Amino acid sequence: MNSLQQARTRVLDHIQVACKNAHRVASEVELLAVSKTHPHDVLREMYQTGQRLFGENYLQEALDKIEALQDLDIEWHFIGHVQRNKTKHLAEKFAWVHGVDRLVIAERLSNQREGNPEPLNICLQVNIDAQESKDGCQPAEVAALVDSISSLPNLNLRGLMVIPAPNNTQAFNDAKILFENMREHHAKPEFWDTLSMGMSGDMNEAIAAGSTMVRVGTALFGARDYSN
Ligand SMILES: *Cc1c(COP(=O)(O)O)cnc(C)c1O
Repeated sequence: MNSLQQARTRVLDHIQVACKNAHRVASEVELLAVSKTHPHDVLREMYQTGQRLFGENYLQEALDKIEALQDLDIEWHFIGHVQRNKTKHLAEKFAWVHGVDRLVIAERLSNQREGNPEPLNICLQVNIDAQESKDGCQPAEVAALVDSISSLPNLNLRGLMVIPAPNNTQAFNDAKILFENMREHHAKPEFWDTLSMGMSGDMNEAIAAGSTMVRVGTALFGARDYSN
């Protein structure tokens, strides 16, 4: 077994144990491999271990990898900050966008997804623990945003995405409560199924609180090197 395979097996085992401790079944939690800064040949190797969901933060880097790996059956997730002038590429190239936090962004994605046979899956990013200088809408804005975004064409609003401050594990419980309360605001509640939260360092707490998708980088690929 190569080291990427070992790392992935360790993370999947970790998820399984966390689910067992939380009296959940492991199939309820998907593993999104966060591959920012890692070159496409490393993603290809990770793909060969069975990984299909990959998350990227930086648009140009992601577009280069999507191009280089177009022979693979990868489900691409954008998890970075969504800039208004970058929505066209997101709408055309990705299966999921996790960082939607304003109606205008969702409207642009909806318009620019027109003609694609598959709706674009999106999560609403919420600043769940009132961090300064953090992306995400306020919890009090979520109901109105779910109301309006869930009826836009060409999108499936799947749920919420949060990135709480380190060690603020209570925020995961708050996100779960908000997630459950918002179902009634959704125009198509059968699509409201995703709580994107938990990273390498806080998977246990996120899964205990109800995460359905953990976004894991370091525990799969090792530390990131930003120097080049
Ligand atoms: C980088 C990143 C991750 C992965 O973080 P790790 O600690 O390396 O697992 C998850 N989510 C988002 C939004 C990120 O930017």
